[in-house]
Amino acid sequence: MPDERRDDRSSPYFSAEHEILRAQVRRFVETEIKPHAQAWESAGFVPREVLRHMGKLGFLGIRYPSEYGGSEMDVLASVVLAEELGRSTFGGVAITVLVHTDMASVHIYNSATRAMKDRLMPDIVSGTKITAVAITEPGAGSDVKGIRTSARRDGDEYVLNGTKMFITNGVYADLYCVAAKTALGDRPSQDISMFLVEKGAPGFIIEKKLEKHGWRSSDTAGLVFEDCRVPASNLLGAEGGGFYAILHNFQNERVVMGAMAMGEAQAAIDLTLDWVTQRHAFGSQLWAKQAIRHRLAMLAAKVEAGRQLVFHAAWLAARGDDAVKEVSMVKAYCGELVNEVMYACLQFHGGTGFIQESAIERMARDARVHTIGGGATEVMLDEIAKRLHTGSNCAT
Ligand SMILES: Cc1cc2nc3c(=O)[nH]c(=O)nc-3n(C[C@H](O)[C@H](O)[C@H](O)COP(=O)(O)OP(=O)(O)OC[C@H]3O[C@@H](n4cnc5c(N)ncnc54)[C@H](O)[C@@H]3O)c2cc1C
Repeated sequence: MPDERRDDRSSPYFSAEHEILRAQVRRFVETEIKPHAQAWESAGFVPREVLRHMGKLGFLGIRYPSEYGGSEMDVLASVVLAEELGRSTFGGVAITVLVHTDMASVHIYNSATRAMKDRLMPDIVSGTKITAVAITEPGAGSDVKGIRTSARRDGDEYVLNGTKMFITNGVYADLYCVAAKTALGDRPSQDISMFLVEKGAPGFIIEKKLEKHGWRSSDTAGLVFEDCRVPASNLLGAEGGGFYAILHNFQNERVVMGAMAMGEAQAAIDLTLDWVTQRHAFGSQLWAKQAIRHRLAMLAAKVEAGRQLVFHAAWLAARGDDAVKEVSMVKAYCGELVNEVMYACLQFHGGTGFIQESAIERMARDARVHTIGGGATEVMLDEIAKRLHTGSNCAT
């Protein structure tokens, strides 16, 4: 079904440039992703030439300066990219791209030395080098301060030891932004530093590719660092500044994941509308059953509310306001909502929705991780609650 049915009346949040980007990404999704992505699901990764193609079209550098090949747009542009990739119905493809553009490469852009940025950013923007961010470990995910990977200074180098888990783009990335402890002091928030580890660094091992419930076209790995030596200049930002860099980047990441989730939810509603208007039972279309119509109508209303919350949080962030409360609401609300939508949409597909060839079956699997990754719902609710309690946007 064509997309004209979607109501895209102009929004105060988006400029003409954003709308051009939306149209370009939507076209790319229709012609270059949807026809091929089932094969990538089977292969377990998105071919690198697809990412280079996206780089050529400018999609990987929308937030970065023109001197690196970027187009210097704002967080609302990332929202557009994420929403449209989410609408592809292939969450694994969307997350492959968005980890690179909005979750991993930002650590290099925000914190690397000028010389390192000049060397790496053009390749990051063109898709020649793909990035990953490695924070989570087997023993610490939500609780970032609990990581145990260590980095010890040794002359002009740091020596990393430890294990990372669930790392998106972990198998096929070229550049890894890795969190490690450079101290074990009384204030754990000042013990963590970020490092750039390039593929092939001695002692850096991609332990295993993980087989997942969903996001199957995204490559995910466990990583091991065994006396892995990196030049001291690979420290990203100040020693001990990693925890706050991670928290800072989480804000962008969570808005982007919320936008991606709402793109997925909208696509699920669209394809379920197609299904229920074609399918007949008890002498009429499924669409003729009020129970189904009302459920879809309410879900459409909730998804519209979720989108507007994403846009508002992104707009606040683009203005430089503290938007932690709103961003946490985005992550909690949209992560849960996309699963509510998938549950109902799969239900209305009947047995077909349980069969692997149906898009809704894949989408329901892909959506599941939205309540876990990048900030579990419970952790986000705590962030909101802290700010409700004080009546301000700042945690106590
Ligand atoms: C497919 C996939 C891709 C990922 N990609 C990356 C990546 O690229 N880089 C990276 O660093 N990490 C990545 N992650 C890790 C992800 O961010 C973590 O899984 C997430 O932060 C949760 O951590 P955990 O799995 O250790 O769960 P835990 O922290 O052990 O939490 C388990 C559960 O307990 C509950 N919980 C946790 N804390 C609280 C609390 N305070 N109050 C109440 N309940 C709580 C939640 O329900 C949570 O789901 C990825 C994960 C997946 C599954």
